[in-house]
Amino acid sequence: MQYEGVLSKMETELGAPIQYYLTFENSFLNVNQALNKHLEISFQGYQCLNCSKKKKIFRQGFCYDCFYSSPAVGDWIMRPELSTAHLGIADRDLDYEARVQLTPHVVYLALSSDVKVGVTRKTQVPTRWIDQGACQAVSIVEVPNRYLAGITEVALKNHFVDKTNWRKMLQNDVLDLDMLTEKARVFEFLPEEVKQYFNADLDEHFVMNYPVLHYPKKVTGLNLDKTPNFAGKLVGIKGQYLIFEDGTVFNVRSFEGYVVGMNII
Ligand SMILES: [Zn+2]
Repeated sequence: MQYEGVLSKMETELGAPIQYYLTFENSFLNVNQALNKHLEISFQGYQCLNCSKKKKIFRQGFCYDCFYSSPAVGDWIMRPELSTAHLGIADRDLDYEARVQLTPHVVYLALSSDVKVGVTRKTQVPTRWIDQGACQAVSIVEVPNRYLAGITEVALKNHFVDKTNWRKMLQNDVLDLDMLTEKARVFEFLPEEVKQYFNADLDEHFVMNYPVLHYPKKVTGLNLDKTPNFAGKLVGIKGQYLIFEDGTVFNVRSFEGYVVGMNII
């Protein structure tokens, strides 16, 4: 079976195991069905996810010009504490920013290798956790805007990491600890104005189960810029990564906006 189109991050569905989908213009692929089969990936070109022009991708699926002009990639995306829509102050486009920032946000702890703190819009639960390859996650606070989530994350960064260790995550090298105990100990670290939003529900505990046949001992990232054609046996999907039998891993998210051909044999 052959597929062709612009890569964007895999859509997911929480299930046992999680289901992954690659969506192209005229077709879609349930990636789980490619497990245990040979998958060929070939680089064919670029197409910016924002302007659709065939320009080289700069970051996050966007060409250089779109990356520095689109409100969808302002600094407040990566650093929520820089959000200003609650003050009526624009970064690039106040209408867009108000729509995204002034909605319920969740600050969470996720276990992917270490315990990591992060921020997401409430509508992105549990998608965000699946995208990070977390095997467990708990929500800490639910706040009405992105700024409050951001200052909470900043306070918790003193006690937890804020980046996923992708190698350990893909090798399933995960700490053995109780997430509800971790959740209970964060309350005292919360900023005063956020304490009222603490999520005290101890039953809300997400466990994610990934379609991985076996985990690699050593992982090497596939870079389509250096290796435009790759073929291997798919043995797992975790986070936004495809895991191959020889330890090659392909981060779909890093190649958003790349036009590829995919062939399953
Ligand atoms: Zn563009």
